[in-house]
Amino acid sequence: MTSLVHADEGGFFGSHGGRFVPPQLETPIAEVAAAYAEARQDPEFQAEYEALLADYVGRPSPLFLAEGLSRELGGAKIYLKREDLNHTGAHKINHCLGEGLLAKRMGKKKLMAETGAGQHGVALATAAALLGLDCEIHMGAIDVEKQRPNVVRMQMLGAKVVSVESGGRCLKDAVDSAFSVFARDYKDTFFAIGSVVGPDPYPSMVRDFQSIVGREAKKQILAKEGRLPDALVASVGGGSNALGLFTEFLEDTEVKMYGVEPAGRNLDVVGEHAATMTFGTPGMLHGMKTLVLQDEAGEPAPVHSIASGLDYPGVGPQHAFLKEVGRVEYVHASDAETLAAFQMLCRTEGIIPALESSHALAHAIRLAPTLSNDQIVVVNLSGRGDKDIDYVAERLAEHA
Ligand SMILES: *Cc1c(COP(=O)(O)O)cnc(C)c1O
Repeated sequence: MTSLVHADEGGFFGSHGGRFVPPQLETPIAEVAAAYAEARQDPEFQAEYEALLADYVGRPSPLFLAEGLSRELGGAKIYLKREDLNHTGAHKINHCLGEGLLAKRMGKKKLMAETGAGQHGVALATAAALLGLDCEIHMGAIDVEKQRPNVVRMQMLGAKVVSVESGGRCLKDAVDSAFSVFARDYKDTFFAIGSVVGPDPYPSMVRDFQSIVGREAKKQILAKEGRLPDALVASVGGGSNALGLFTEFLEDTEVKMYGVEPAGRNLDVVGEHAATMTFGTPGMLHGMKTLVLQDEAGEPAPVHSIASGLDYPGVGPQHAFLKEVGRVEYVHASDAETLAAFQMLCRTEGIIPALESSHALAHAIRLAPTLSNDQIVVVNLSGRGDKDIDYVAERLAEHA
């Protein structure tokens, strides 16, 4: 049987993944792959990474028994993996530091990336400031307008934000713009991808950097309960926080796993959801073969989610594979279920979750009552919700 964890030599997970890049990007991406293959074997690199996770990010993040929430639901015990307590308030800092360290090791001077909602840009600008690297973030002009606070954060952290005026002035145009600058400047520049997506080696590399989440969670649950959990639940945008939690448990077949994607406002209407695992078909996106929400011409479909970090028309290739082999079950949560989950966690635990993480909570809320009191569910609380409170307040006022 092929491995559940590792890609084959071509970077494929089953039929998904690979490295499909234009000729001018072949050399720069091959260089990243070679450097990472070395770094992952180097104890010094790993030690440096782990020291930053401990002293800068604040790891290990706690595994917290949510007694109030569990009692309210009347079923399984729910534990929360508190990635919201990391420096910068989410899991993304884990892989941004890893990519930043690799860039330094390769002698690069600058980190660059595209960002949609700005979360990846802020985490990357943070890593760049810490590591003494320049940072250049490309962002569609429309997103620059919509995401003012994150633009200001990136600038305060010393990053240059490039507003992309071409095409539809959105994420897709920012990707094109960032890649064309990278193809030109790659001798000094490292391209940092914000999830387990893109051409090989990025899906494997970002997953490795995030897998600290599951390694900690396994130790923590064994210390607290003396056994493995019955189920793991995580939200899926590109899929990095989910693989971060899942990887350490993939071979433990008694542990069920749920990836939760956004059902948005309406699953029946293209553009009203971002349920790639449910409705996606095999296609090509951002240098990889994977499941894609696309039209007949292979153009990525418009997507919507109440959580801006989840509105992506593709998914990491390893997720497409884990679905195919049946190891992970992919479900969805609507905007309304997500808002209800957000409020329930605020009130039962005094924790304001990110709207992305609230998708995972929404499924845990459905699941827990179907299980018994001695069963255990671990939810990846991928981020804190401070960034979302204005939006949530508006939405709740609309329905008041
Ligand atoms: C970006 C983000 C996500 C979605 O990205 P994944 O790669 O699927 O993890 C989920 N939660 C939070 C808090 C995020 O910022």
